Amino acid sequence: MPAHNLWEYSPRATSGLLFNVTAEIRARFPNTPVFPSVGNHEGVPVNAFPASAYWLYETLARVWEPFGLEAQSLETVKKHGYYSQLIRPGFRVLSINSNFCNDENFWILLTDGDPGDQNQWLVDTLSGAEAASEKVLLVGHIPPGEPDTITSCSSDFYKIIDRFSETVTAQFFGHTHWDQLKLFYDEQRQATNVAYVGPSVTTWEGVDPAFRIYEIDSWHRANSTFAVLDFHTFKTNVEETPRTEFPKFFKSYSALGEYELRDLSPDSWARLVSRWENNEDERGFHKYFSNYYHKTGRNNCVGECRAKYICEIQAAAKNKDPISSFCQNSLYQKI
Ligand SMILES: [Zn+2]
Repeated sequence: MPAHNLWEYSPRATSGLLFNVTAEIRARFPNTPVFPSVGNHEGVPVNAFPASAYWLYETLARVWEPFGLEAQSLETVKKHGYYSQLIRPGFRVLSINSNFCNDENFWILLTDGDPGDQNQWLVDTLSGAEAASEKVLLVGHIPPGEPDTITSCSSDFYKIIDRFSETVTAQFFGHTHWDQLKLFYDEQRQATNVAYVGPSVTTWEGVDPAFRIYEIDSWHRANSTFAVLDFHTFKTNVEETPRTEFPKFFKSYSALGEYELRDLSPDSWARLVSRWENNEDERGFHKYFSNYYHKTGRNNCVGECRAKYICEIQAAAKNKDPISSFCQNSLYQKI
């Protein structure tokens, strides 16, 4: 969890921060299960993620042990920074190392296209989960399809999610600092999966700190779907907070109410985005745009701006065939 003072990073300083942050989370949430995922700022130098044999993966295995990860999970963390953990019978969490595919990760030049054999591991793990009728929540740091991810990696990931869209109930990412939605579609252009990108708690760049709580069908309930039922986004207002006071967080919005959705299924999100595309819900789209920047005063997005944000939702893999002629014709394709 280092900050953005990139050229002051060192393995020693980063290790210290990792131990401190873990201890703080354990102290504040002693009874809450925590499933961490490695971010690009943990690499030293920033964005450096070899496929294996890296001090960081060995450190993470030690740092994350107090979170209660199983020996088997810690074993893959130690090798490659990713893991799978069964939470309850029928319910699994996968945490991927999305940093392999950062376009500033020069270590990828030494790999064969599947760094750390992560894709093979994902396919094997999801095949096992499917055979055991498990549901899976997937957590990662860099969302697929971002401008700083390698295109072939995003495309491979997209194909894997499409194949296992019945097993993966939702995906959760961060990294961009924005409040974003990314949809996955099958060959028939039906929405199959949702990747949620949570807003950042840092102010970079020019936003109020925010965080997100997801409401998920309880794993204690018989026949739980493990689906995301709603999410609640909280924020603070930095400019209105006196320098001598700690910022107060308040609820900014909940997804169901904000976007007038019946549920948070991929189909419901896709219908909503389709209405935005057809300019049938101007108010809803402008809420999305305002929320994207944590309701920090950016409100005007029409024409090509609107197309860019809508196509970003629909393009969870760069260079994948645009989902609609709307995106084929938009400036998004030129980015
Ligand atoms: Zn990041």
